Amino acid sequence: MPLSRLFLRPGELTVGIELEQAADIIRSRVVPGGETEVLAIGRLYGRICAEDVRAAFDIPPFPRSPLDGYAFRALDGAGASNDSPVELAVIEEIYAGQWPQKSVTPGTAARLMTGAPIPEGADCVIRQEETDEGRRRVRLFKALSPGENICRQGEDIARGGLLVSAGERLNYVHAGLLAGAGISSMRVYRRPRVLLLVTGDELWLPELGEPPPGKIYSSNHALLSARLEELGAEAVLAEPCEDDEKAIAERISDAAGEIDLVITTGGVSVGSRDLVPEALGNLGAEILFHGLNLKPGTPAMFSLYGRLPILSLSGNPFAALATMELLARPALALLARNGALELQYENGVLENGFPTPSPGRRFIRGTERRGRVRLADGPHSSGVLGSLRGCNCLVDIPAGTGPLKAGDAVRLVRLDQGGGEAV
Ligand code: AMP
Ligand code: MG
Repeated sequence: MPLSRLFLRPGELTVGIELEQAADIIRSRVVPGGETEVLAIGRLYGRICAEDVRAAFDIPPFPRSPLDGYAFRALDGAGASNDSPVELAVIEEIYAGQWPQKSVTPGTAARLMTGAPIPEGADCVIRQEETDEGRRRVRLFKALSPGENICRQGEDIARGGLLVSAGERLNYVHAGLLAGAGISSMRVYRRPRVLLLVTGDELWLPELGEPPPGKIYSSNHALLSARLEELGAEAVLAEPCEDDEKAIAERISDAAGEIDLVITTGGVSVGSRDLVPEALGNLGAEILFHGLNLKPGTPAMFSLYGRLPILSLSGNPFAALATMELLARPALALLARNGALELQYENGVLENGFPTPSPGRRFIRGTERRGRVRLADGPHSSGVLGSLRGCNCLVDIPAGTGPLKAGDAVRLVRLDQGGGEAV
């Protein structure tokens, strides 16, 4: 579709825009996040590193013993065996955390424990089980070669070695590496801040007390914010907004300076109370697409208010979740500078069938385990959340597919991954 067709008047749905095309439009218009912050090591988990960090010194910082035994000069123990042990004078006992006070000279040994520094002059360590464990003099029952049983200085990470590189997603291994290198904080990209604006006159919150007749509790703000947090974003929750284009526009313009992405739910279709497109039109937002060639969540819309990207999704909870997953991840990947947030498809084989044909492309909730995919048994409509319980994927059913049967090969998007690992 030529891009010009994508600049729409509010309320006008594009016909036939494919998910891939929609995602490309999002990728081409979202400005990558660049702000950074310095965080203490305990708060780095899941964040994206903004700079290369190298070791300022060798790790370990001195040669040390990997076992309890005796350090000596390999030359002195030449020929030692059970039958003809070699005897050395023990000059010192060194524990982990202590520094040797004496040098090992010909004919001497230092008793040392795991982690203790190797004293000057010694070039090997014999394990205590291969000696008589003497305190003032020790008999060695084995000959060793130079370097044996010595952890070299810098053998873990040499000075200048890379601990984490810019763009890496920080996990517990990085935390251990940084801590071991004496680093207690580092610079990471700020998490994208996502304003979640649920719209609908019918919406109510538990904090407001008993809902009047006709009202329903909003589930979308909780559903979507929890998933956004899993994906490494910071969800900013707004009070539900009534179906009023002025109120919707005001909420968005008020938040604009503080926010990297807005996600609205509800009011995006073509009903007379579907006022999100109009509100955005009045704000002067540039509408880049409105309408996806898939179910659920067909009326999804993407617009830009200045540089601020706005994803407007159907109010039906399953539709909102599915389209957020499909459309927000490409945006979040850029905002968070985390390519692993991009949608990734996996292959699977169906364990059960699905009787209804899919004339258009459809994403069906299911559960994938080791490549076997079970489509949810419960109702599949976009307003139903209950049957999403226990599901972990969206199964991508191409347009023109007939009834599905067990054994059919399918493609799917996992709902429990983000940032490259299961979350
Ligand atoms: P809409 O997209 O505004 O046409 O809403 C579609 C359906 O989703 C309607 O049944 C709404 O009541 C329902 N809905 C809208 N917003 C929410 C929400 N935040 N939580 C739960 N259901 C909602
Ligand atoms: Mg509505």
